[in-house]
Amino acid sequence: MGSHNYPPDLRMLINRHGHLCIGSAIGYRVCKFALKLIDKGPGLTVYTGSGGCLQHAIEILTGCSRAKGTIISMEDQGWGFYDHTSGEGYRLSLKREILQKNSGDKESLIEALLTLPDNDIFTVEAFDRPGPDFNPEVPETEREDPVKSQA
Ligand SMILES: [Zn+2]
Repeated sequence: MGSHNYPPDLRMLINRHGHLCIGSAIGYRVCKFALKLIDKGPGLTVYTGSGGCLQHAIEILTGCSRAKGTIISMEDQGWGFYDHTSGEGYRLSLKREILQKNSGDKESLIEALLTLPDNDIFTVEAFDRPGPDFNPEVPETEREDPVKSQA
């Protein structure tokens, strides 16, 4: 997909994020997919196992933020979208194959991330609101980011 064919929301994201990278491309697809499944309402909270560019993309596309308490870190290589209003939640995680097939080639990975169907990129499961024992503040350094080694 040439950059002139990018949809307006992707162009807006690249504009506000500052560049197109693996993290923002994943964040774009995560949010596009999740927001087909769940409403972007005031009850939306995103639990993320990734920081950096990916989290920034989630902030831009969902309007959720760490400052508002609607983006919360979790010790999990995936993304949980939970609607506190409806009690509905979904967890998306990246399929390993997509990283393996495109390892070492940033451009082809970004191209794949922008063009493949949702279900070729992500696994979807139900996601429950994390319980009282949930500890959202896992130190950045203790989290493994599947994307960082590729970026
Ligand atoms: Zn970036």
